[in-house]
Amino acid sequence: MPAKRSTSLWAETTPITKDVAKEGQIAHVISGWECDHCKAQSWSKDVSRLMFHLSGDVRLRRLRDADNGFTGIDVCTHVPDGVADRAKSEMMAKAAKKARKLSSSAAGQVMVSEEGDLRAERMQSTIPHLSGRDAKQIKADNSLSDLFDGHGWAHSIANGKLIRTAVKEILAVGPHYKLPSGSAMSGSILERQYEADIIEDNRILGLLGSQV
Ligand SMILES: [Zn+2]
Repeated sequence: MPAKRSTSLWAETTPITKDVAKEGQIAHVISGWECDHCKAQSWSKDVSRLMFHLSGDVRLRRLRDADNGFTGIDVCTHVPDGVADRAKSEMMAKAAKKARKLSSSAAGQVMVSEEGDLRAERMQSTIPHLSGRDAKQIKADNSLSDLFDGHGWAHSIANGKLIRTAVKEILAVGPHYKLPSGSAMSGSILERQYEADIIEDNRILGLLGSQV
């Protein structure tokens, strides 16, 4: 693994320092950064925070809560478009990486879903031929693509009858469809299919038997 790469986005800021003196303690200097575009200051050098600020995207303000971080900082209102685009794509790449890591946990799945919204909305607003498309459709296509790529499944599987039938039948159940767990797939579902096969085999044998 290469060493943690620092982002070129720091070039959009100027390092700043301040003395912090608490009563009864020795004063020490803390460092932070000032945005070159709007002069906002931050005393946290967290890179996600920098990306969030430079994204300049007011839609991302919804990430400003304690769970997502970014409290006490706002998106930049003076950032040039080119820098904002870089910040957003770095943010997205970082979020995607995090999402991949978290995708197995429940909290992670909520996050993946939210990142998916952002990604789909961004694609819809920046890729001209997607402007007329439904963001939900873009998000669903992205998820499917992630599913295939994440498991190394050949893209041609998407053309297959099995997956098309499964999707069609899931949609027929509606939004309350609950995807079975892996253990149900290898346990009860497999068992009931096996059971049905035996019943069917016996039925056929019975039919054959009655003809004799
Ligand atoms: Zn700024």
